[in-house]
Amino acid sequence: MKRKKGRYGCPNLDCPSFKHQKKYKDNVESCPECGSGLAHVCRSKSCYTVVEDPFEPMCLTCKAKHADKKDMRKKIIGAAGIGAAVAAPAVVKNRGVIKEAAKTVIGLIRK
Ligand SMILES: [Zn+2]
Ligand SMILES: [Zn+2]
Repeated sequence: MKRKKGRYGCPNLDCPSFKHQKKYKDNVESCPECGSGLAHVCRSKSCYTVVEDPFEPMCLTCKAKHADKKDMRKKIIGAAGIGAAVAAPAVVKNRGVIKEAAKTVIGLIRK
């Protein structure tokens, strides 16, 4: 059976590949460091969990995290509206102008 695309890691606890959590592409059959057969691991950065299901690119923990993020992004965009999302970079660009405007407003309130 052809291997599913994904990330493969060395399951050998004593191997430098394992210690450095090195990940290999699906075309690498065995660990170049120790020769062990590679195991399908989670594709998330800094995660080296072995994934049993060859059709699952991520471990369950990362999958849940990923889904959460996606969901949150949708909620934020939904709440703020696309107009706000487009305006955001302009706000950052004109931060100095906004600061000045804020000073003026504060000055007016104090009067
Ligand atoms: Zn190895
Ligand atoms: Zn993971």
